[in-house]
Amino acid sequence: MSSTSVSVLLPLIGSSSAPSVARDAIERYFASTGFEFEVSVVHEQSYGAAIRRGVSEARGSIIVIADAELPYPVSALGDAVAMIDSGASEIVFASAHPDEERRYPLLRWFLVPVLPDPSIHLKAFSATAARFVAGETKLHGGGCDLEIAFLANKYGFRIERINVHCDPRLLSKPSFGGITGLVPLTAIRLNDRNMNYRAARRCPVCFSSEVWSWAQIPGNIVRACRRCKCRYLNQFSEGDDGLPVHRVLRAYVPPADPFEETAHSRTAREKTSQRRLAHIRRDIPQHARLLEVGVRDGSFGAAASREYEYVGIDHAPAAARAARARGLDVYCAALQNFVNTGPAFDAITLFHVLENMTDPHDALAHVKDLLKPGGTLFLTTFDTEGFLYLLTEKKRMAHNFRTHVILFSRSALIELLERSGFEIQSIVPDFEYRDHKFLRHWLAVRLPHIGGLVRKILRILPDPLLVTSGSIRVIARRRAGPLLNVRTIRSVEPTHAR
Ligand SMILES: [Zn+2]
Repeated sequence: MSSTSVSVLLPLIGSSSAPSVARDAIERYFASTGFEFEVSVVHEQSYGAAIRRGVSEARGSIIVIADAELPYPVSALGDAVAMIDSGASEIVFASAHPDEERRYPLLRWFLVPVLPDPSIHLKAFSATAARFVAGETKLHGGGCDLEIAFLANKYGFRIERINVHCDPRLLSKPSFGGITGLVPLTAIRLNDRNMNYRAARRCPVCFSSEVWSWAQIPGNIVRACRRCKCRYLNQFSEGDDGLPVHRVLRAYVPPADPFEETAHSRTAREKTSQRRLAHIRRDIPQHARLLEVGVRDGSFGAAASREYEYVGIDHAPAAARAARARGLDVYCAALQNFVNTGPAFDAITLFHVLENMTDPHDALAHVKDLLKPGGTLFLTTFDTEGFLYLLTEKKRMAHNFRTHVILFSRSALIELLERSGFEIQSIVPDFEYRDHKFLRHWLAVRLPHIGGLVRKILRILPDPLLVTSGSIRVIARRRAGPLLNVRTIRSVEPTHAR
């Protein structure tokens, strides 16, 4: 017996007669599927009120709103339920128009990019999504549909669309139109401005609740913070940080993705490491104690250990083992559970590591504790306010979040570091070496039109070539002085004008 139970709501507005035909058809259909189900006809004065009452009374784990006229085959309800039941989506909007994505550009622009089809009401929700999205609505008429779309975005629910074939004679009056939708749009915006809706889960970087769904990527949603401009994954997968390390034997798989960091040729990686070391040399005297968080292939450690008292940590056992095999002092630990048995460090480096950490505040607090007062933090990360990032963001969204969980903006990083007890010394664009093989592949994939020309130019350029990936390099110093709780004091004064 399936544990899934379905509640089908048939909203009935005003003095319409009870839809016995639709009700019978739906009951017959769901009886054949094996799901537990209930069909409720919700009689109310307005559509919004019917939705709210229906959702609050529904007991199912999946809630479907159907049309009393049933202009589509009843199996469409089953398709919507299957989408929710499989976990592919939390909300499903059915649409009678194959080109739904292009209709109502004005509403999409001012409200949210994903809108329901106004001519049919068929929608399905997981019980959680329904409670948040339909339960928080305030409007009465058809604008309630727009409100549902708006709140789905605000609370970060995934929406999928299914197309259904409808009998045009049975379609009801559209619940909103391109122009008539502007009235509920204004009401929704005003409601949101007056904070009549429950606030969304806050940004993990600046704790603002002005966060919105930015894009749907396979298996997750990218959220954007309007205040600090950072982007982050809606759901962090259960990381292996803090868990005991299990040794897993895996067959060797050659790197398939040429954009994978570890796939860059040895010389490019080594030259990048030399370049990073040269920057550190300017600030840190020889023989100082240096900690690298995230050692990857150990190329930086190999270079740095000749001049510094180098210690590395990496939470991936394979990386730590490989680095130890190169004779480096590397521990398999996450930053959170690394215990420094020696004196405090003079410098700590985080090269493209902070964006993989789910709690940057906690991570920087640990970095601060491991550094001696006045010690230096070297950090490289992508910059979501950078030109190159903004230019390529839409295309590379899924790739950017393949391993990263939070992408920071320059301003968010400044604020974060200042609040964590650091003083910014410099922020500059970061350059890395990439070999021609990588660049040729990149050109072939990204810019096939001008790729031929650029490949010719590439021939006369040095290999590996110094390029930017839109990253920034931040040098920050731990504030000296007595160990008082700097963060508490700093957090009450504005550190960053906006
Ligand atoms: Zn934020």
